[in-house]
Amino acid sequence: MDAPAVAAPSPPRSGIGPDTRRTGRLLGVLALGLALAIFLVDAFTPLEGAVAVLYVVVVLVSARAFRRNGVILTASGCLLLTAVAYFLSHRFFDSDSALLRALVSLAAIAISALLVLRNQAAARILAEQAELLELTHDPIFVRTPTDTVTFWNRAAEDLYGWRRDEVRGRNVHVLLRTAFPGGEAAIRDALMRNGRWEGELAQTVRSGARVVVESRWSLQRDAGGQPLAVLETNTDITERKRAHAALAESERRYRTIFDTARVAILQQDWREVKAVLDAVPPDAATPLRAHLHAHPEVVRDLRRSVTIVDANAELRRLIGADAGAAAPRSLDALLFEDEPTFIEALLALARGETFFEGETTIRALSGDPVPILFGITFPSHAEGFEGVLVFAVDITERKQAQEALLAVQAELAHTARVTTLGELTASIAHEVNQPLAAIVTNGEAALRWLRRSPPDLGEVSAAVTRVVASGTRAGEIVSRIRTFLAKTPPPRDWLDLREMIGESVLLVEREMVRGGVRLIRDVASDVTLVHGDRVQLQQVLINLMVNAIQAMATVTERPRLLTIRVAPDGAEHVRVTVADSGGGIAAEAVERVFQPFFTTKADGMGMGLAICRSIVEAHGGRLWITGHDDPGAAFHFTIPTTAEREP
Ligand code: ADP
Repeated sequence: MDAPAVAAPSPPRSGIGPDTRRTGRLLGVLALGLALAIFLVDAFTPLEGAVAVLYVVVVLVSARAFRRNGVILTASGCLLLTAVAYFLSHRFFDSDSALLRALVSLAAIAISALLVLRNQAAARILAEQAELLELTHDPIFVRTPTDTVTFWNRAAEDLYGWRRDEVRGRNVHVLLRTAFPGGEAAIRDALMRNGRWEGELAQTVRSGARVVVESRWSLQRDAGGQPLAVLETNTDITERKRAHAALAESERRYRTIFDTARVAILQQDWREVKAVLDAVPPDAATPLRAHLHAHPEVVRDLRRSVTIVDANAELRRLIGADAGAAAPRSLDALLFEDEPTFIEALLALARGETFFEGETTIRALSGDPVPILFGITFPSHAEGFEGVLVFAVDITERKQAQEALLAVQAELAHTARVTTLGELTASIAHEVNQPLAAIVTNGEAALRWLRRSPPDLGEVSAAVTRVVASGTRAGEIVSRIRTFLAKTPPPRDWLDLREMIGESVLLVEREMVRGGVRLIRDVASDVTLVHGDRVQLQQVLINLMVNAIQAMATVTERPRLLTIRVAPDGAEHVRVTVADSGGGIAAEAVERVFQPFFTTKADGMGMGLAICRSIVEAHGGRLWITGHDDPGAAFHFTIPTTAEREP
């Protein structure tokens, strides 16, 4: 086996193969044969020499064949054979010189045995150390100062692909085509100066692949200070380097996205918020939402604790922070007083959600509001809260467009209401006419009672009271129509559908009478209040009723029935159905009737249903048609019973 040049150890025990064992046995037999031959010559030939000294050779051979006990046994045998041979051939003390030779031989055998045992012990220690080098995962090799390999461990075989017997005697850095960063001469200089060097090297393995190793060189010098050998330990860091390069690349890509995105990106530190929320006991007496609403100072502190670690150029543009101006350091500086979505974000985090999005308004450096749409990505584990990512887009333009759209819609709805009222002129005239006629009749009656002699003041008073009541009714009718025609509808409110239907029916009553339509009202008793805009919802009801009445104008073969049904729809909506027994709507026209300007009437505008649908959807409900085949159509719409959606 190869061994470090300095202390060539015997083969490690674990490395003893069948060949080694066979050689050991042969040497053992040789030692025994040799001992026997020496004994025969010593005991039975007249040779007067120190033949027994040759037992030293037996001991030396046994050192290669046996371990410690074998060597002791062999040496003891040799001592015994020397003594026996002496007594057999010389009797006691018959010759001083023979005795002296025997004693010298005995001493030589004993000394050589001791030396062999010591050498074996030293070799064993070295072998154990060399075995440790075999155990390490790092490739280790020893080379002469001129790079010739003298030792090559198992890990080196694994990494480089060459067996130890293939590399022995070869120039390792030529073989591995080592590239020395910073120059080979400088590295060798450093090694000679300091006795060690470490750094990264690129090498080529047998398959041709390049590997990067972290290399540590140690120089060993001989007693005279001359370089003797270099121990080179290499750690394969190819994968680590690749992973590191990939990470650096992804970091660079992320940075580019961060810096150049047209989306504002902020990195915020939410650790303190997380710690505070984690400390809230799950069975706290007050629910978190109520607690936060009751303690604005807590919310304020939490807002302050969220620091802005990093923000990209788009965020700076958004808040009007020019190159020189310092960006805000905490989230608190970005938000207005009582900003509502922060509490929602806290609640989302407390619920363990990893994403929260919303719409809010942030404060530019000038103090101006900037509407944004934002998303916060919370880490799913306890770590990572020091770099919570928040994305935001400026929706100023969208807001402006939305507001313009709403204004146009309101205009259109208003126009549609004016048009509808135009269709209802007859009804309105009739309605206003009734109290007016009553006023005239009662006024005339009052005059008649006054002209009597004596005037009947009791009757006069009763007639004038009726005049006032009729005047009030006429006033109410006019005021209802004026409200309906108002350009800006009143704010949303809690509305009683039963009452609203009553008012709407009043406006179309005359049309129904004229068209011979019978009204069926079916309002469930458990219908709750809905939240909405009175005028707009009335517009929907009137529109659907007028359409239904008009659809039944040509019906002669069956009763003309207009049904208005109101019933709960799930837990959070009320459903209103307006059904008729008219000609119905062809299946292919069902969706088209909601398109603007779709009309089948000579004087129709085709905007009614389109406006109705946008009103209902703006309320968080739906408008759809069922039973569109003859006889009649049924329009349904839902309105929420909760106040969550605002226009
Ligand atoms: P307009 O009444 O001005 O035509 P609408 O948008 O209110 O506009 O209605 C669009 C079309 O839908 C009508 O022209 C008619 O063809 C159809 N329509 C609406 N309601 C009914 C109904 N109850 N029965 C049959 N057809 C209907």
